[in-house]
Amino acid sequence: MSRDEQQVRWGRQMLEWLDEKWPQPRACPVCRSTDAGWDLGHIGEIRVFTGGGLVLGSGSRIYPMAPVMCKNCGYTFLVNAAHAGIVQPPKPEAAEPEAGQ
Ligand SMILES: [Zn+2]
Repeated sequence: MSRDEQQVRWGRQMLEWLDEKWPQPRACPVCRSTDAGWDLGHIGEIRVFTGGGLVLGSGSRIYPMAPVMCKNCGYTFLVNAAHAGIVQPPKPEAAEPEAGQ
């Protein structure tokens, strides 16, 4: 399965999750629109902030997040896709030996 196909599959699962968890009407908390609708973005990730550097391994954590965007104003909120059951929860990255060891 290609990455695009995977994102489409996850998008369908997200729509099912939203239908189950988010009752109508789905008003935007910013523009108050109830009829503009919402778009789904591709699942991305958020990493734990470590002071500005990118840490791989060493027990760092990644949170897979699905953006849901208001079609009228662009207000966006994120759903933790692992908590929602869309993707497998990522395991903390194992500590890796430093280069040269
Ligand atoms: Zn809005």
